[in-house]
Amino acid sequence: MLSLNGSGVGNGLTFGRAVVLERWKRTTPDYSISQESVDTEINRFRTALANVKAKLHELQNTIPLDAPPETLAFIEVHLLMLDDPVISEQPVASIRRDQKNAESALKTHADTLVAFFDQIEDPYLRSKKNDVHQVVDRVMIELLGPVLSEPTQLNSRLDDQIIVTNDLTPAETVSLHQRGVRAFITSLGGPISHTAILARSLHIPAVVGLHSAIRYIRNDDLLVIDAANDTVIVAPDEDMLVKFRQRQKVHAQHTAKLALLSDRPAVTQDGINVKLLANIEFPEDLPGLASVGAEGVGLYRTEFLFMNRAEPPTEDEQYKAYCQVLDSVSGTVTIRTLDLGADKQVDGGRADGEKTINPALGLRAIRLCLNEPTLFKPQLRAIFRAASRGDARIMIPMISSLDELDQALELVRETCRELEKEGKVFNPNVPIGGMIEVPAAAVAADLFARKLKFLSIGTNDLIQYTLAIDRIDDEVNYLYDPLHPSVLRLIHQVIEAGNRSGIPVAMCGEMAGDPVFTRLLLGLGLREFSMEASSLPDIKQRILESRIDELENFSRQTLDCLDKESLRHMVEQLNHTLHKPV
Ligand code: PEP
Ligand code: MG
Repeated sequence: MLSLNGSGVGNGLTFGRAVVLERWKRTTPDYSISQESVDTEINRFRTALANVKAKLHELQNTIPLDAPPETLAFIEVHLLMLDDPVISEQPVASIRRDQKNAESALKTHADTLVAFFDQIEDPYLRSKKNDVHQVVDRVMIELLGPVLSEPTQLNSRLDDQIIVTNDLTPAETVSLHQRGVRAFITSLGGPISHTAILARSLHIPAVVGLHSAIRYIRNDDLLVIDAANDTVIVAPDEDMLVKFRQRQKVHAQHTAKLALLSDRPAVTQDGINVKLLANIEFPEDLPGLASVGAEGVGLYRTEFLFMNRAEPPTEDEQYKAYCQVLDSVSGTVTIRTLDLGADKQVDGGRADGEKTINPALGLRAIRLCLNEPTLFKPQLRAIFRAASRGDARIMIPMISSLDELDQALELVRETCRELEKEGKVFNPNVPIGGMIEVPAAAVAADLFARKLKFLSIGTNDLIQYTLAIDRIDDEVNYLYDPLHPSVLRLIHQVIEAGNRSGIPVAMCGEMAGDPVFTRLLLGLGLREFSMEASSLPDIKQRILESRIDELENFSRQTLDCLDKESLRHMVEQLNHTLHKPV
């Protein structure tokens, strides 16, 4: 049994078998084994050697008589190498003496053999090192399973399986979900990446940024994913499994208890109404909304309609998708226009072609849409047409300059004029709002507020851009801090700007769905929270337990505190004085 740590996504707790996907060169697992496991490990190694030999003999028998003689000679060489003590005996001695796992013992001795061939001057003999590599690769495949590198190489269904890989793009995450994957672990990535957000919304438990995942986890290992505690247990013992099953039960009971709150309005104890909305990515997310009592959709990430396909969806296809959402949600649906680019590429970002050096600062979201009106206009037309059937709002992502906003609003007017001329049924009065997720827009929020009907704070990007921390880079993830005073000041400033202009301000980044920040945000004046649906009951409970008049002064004091520890302490204090719901 082995415990590994990364960054948990959500609070899922699950078990399953590992399927290791090596996207880059295979990493040889390297770990120590206990004295009691030595014989089993030697057995595993010898079985792998025997299997390779059996397969080579089988191959020998199937080679046609007229095949070139080198083919047979090649198999002979591999069989001889398998009998060489460097490959067949010395690793066994290492397993016994050094208590190393079979793969690492084999690699150590194979490397010595390769180094020996490398020194030979004769080019023909030197090239024999390639045969060593090939033989060792065959044994490694027996020990570790075949090397799979792309999700497309996996069997079609992945039920009960846990993908372990270097990284995953949002598009790949969607495709794994469609094939029933139970959970995933990645060596790279942070908990605010779009891949992680998607996993949360699709209810896929995940641990990201677990650097040693590929090194320690083998195909078919039994794994426990404990996302709330950022942990993965490899090969858990029976005691551990019993404990986890117990925790799963408690977790399910807690969720069932919170579900009882779904019909209660989110009103604080001093009578202030708070709007709780859901973030959605797919029309399939809709059934979950009513069960948690969401009052509408505060963020519909439409870019997922564009992923994993060769062509963008047509206007009619989009129209149908938006109608489906509007027909099934009783409150407002905030449809965010395309936010493609950066880590959200339609093809999963793996297609060959020029890569931007700094994609998060590149042609993303509204910038991309203004650059490619043939992509943007059909979406606007589809939204305006669908809005004749329900309460829709349009939200523009990543605005950073007024000029850009003006261009977007001009395109909106142009779209309406065209629809009018064509005699289409549409709603010309859809409120247009903007996401405040670039510091430039936060600082000048009052100027943007004059031209918009609502604002929504996207803390995922606002934190990324304010603190200069790539949200998908696990190496700087420790700096990703929603409580940084600059972030808190920007949030407060945007809320105040909205209040002064008389337009509503929501928050739809991950911070809105984390109960640790609920009371602080209430105290700073936030009255609309949008989050992944399953977070909503916890947030509602926090609201029901709060009095805003008690939170305001204290919350504002956090804006003047630069010291990280004191700030955390202040937030703990804020969260301490909860009132029982009445
Ligand atoms: C955000 O940036 O906070 C946000 C909600 O948008 P996304 O996570 O899709 O970039
Ligand atoms: Mg964003």
